[in-house]
Amino acid sequence: MSCPGCGVESVRVHSRYQRRVKDCAVGGQPVVVELTVRRLFCDQDSCPRRTFVEQVDGLTVRYGRYTPGLRFSQDFRERVTIRHGSSADDAFAEER
Ligand SMILES: [Zn+2]
Repeated sequence: MSCPGCGVESVRVHSRYQRRVKDCAVGGQPVVVELTVRRLFCDQDSCPRRTFVEQVDGLTVRYGRYTPGLRFSQDFRERVTIRHGSSADDAFAEER
């Protein structure tokens, strides 16, 4: 993952957290995409960013376009949970 500030690759993980994206209902059921994203350190002294969060292409676009992107990256596929139906509502209820 490259730092958006300086473009240098970083592999040193600072922390992980879950992002949830509520998506359009599929077949009348609500859908939530859960993805574990990483915050990484940037070790470049000249870079103004100390840490940055990895970006995931397609995270905020429609589910139908998002899924093919996940096939592109096995690493991300393993960290994604897609919830359907009432469990999707539960996922958001937990955050409130
Ligand atoms: Zn940097």
